[in-house]
Amino acid sequence: MTAQDLLCKALRRGESSTLKKRFGQHFLTDPSILRRIVQFARLTPEDTVVEIGPGAGSLTLALAAAVHRVIAIEIDRALIAELRARLPSNVEIIEGDALEAVLPQIPFHVVANLPYNIATPLLRRFIDYRDQILGITVMIQKEVADRLSANPRTRDYGPLSVLIQYYATVAYGFTVPPGAFKPPPKVNSAVVRIDWKPRVPDNKRFTGFVHKAFSSRRKKLANNLQSMFGSELRAQILQRLESAGIDPNARPEELSVAEFLRVYNQFRM
Ligand code: SAM
Repeated sequence: MTAQDLLCKALRRGESSTLKKRFGQHFLTDPSILRRIVQFARLTPEDTVVEIGPGAGSLTLALAAAVHRVIAIEIDRALIAELRARLPSNVEIIEGDALEAVLPQIPFHVVANLPYNIATPLLRRFIDYRDQILGITVMIQKEVADRLSANPRTRDYGPLSVLIQYYATVAYGFTVPPGAFKPPPKVNSAVVRIDWKPRVPDNKRFTGFVHKAFSSRRKKLANNLQSMFGSELRAQILQRLESAGIDPNARPEELSVAEFLRVYNQFRM
């Protein structure tokens, strides 16, 4: 049975109601998109891949043909038996929630068509596993892909852009229209590849600081910092921004990751 048969079976069982909205089930059916995702991931035959949400197994099959081992984590119990029975022996299906499941201790790539409702928390989780994760290639909502890869001074640039770009470089691969999925999602999707920058220290305080610095996007950075530290420190805030080489009238979306780091270094205790 092919992934296509599995998908048809899943669809027949209760038409599209079988595909559970709460699990973000939009299954990929276009073989050319599957091929492009695998190519874009730059895998080698020796690699281990962790796939989040194999669904009906179409991407899993394409991955299993390209690499040594695939570990696929699926939350929907209804799909597990079929996946285990039908996929080749180099695929291990783990039943569980990818936000909590124990990830392998060996180096691995993540390749997945992510459930869109948990894409951001999953990306945050991957940051914590970056010592083991060799690279990430994921399909996500195009809007989130745009935010991940956004440059300063653009509409899409925000705390998620700074967080991910602090740790990694993001390559925008290609846009995927709703028609490539069953059932089609309401929005466009996109494939991105995330490659870690070398030796970036963990810095949860920095990323927390950036979140607060963006607390009101329309306000000047100095005003957001004032909400953070108190209005009595206004003069000090302006002076520290100046020491960091930042225009006191700048808005948060105008600062690059490097500039945010300079500001953070002026304020950290
Ligand atoms: N990989 C398949 C494909 O491309 O056709 C399915 C992708 S579908 C967008 C997302 C998949 O993730 C679904 O199979 C869904 O059941 C699964 N899923 C949703 N939430 C999950 C979670 N927290 N942990 C693991 N899998 C999850």
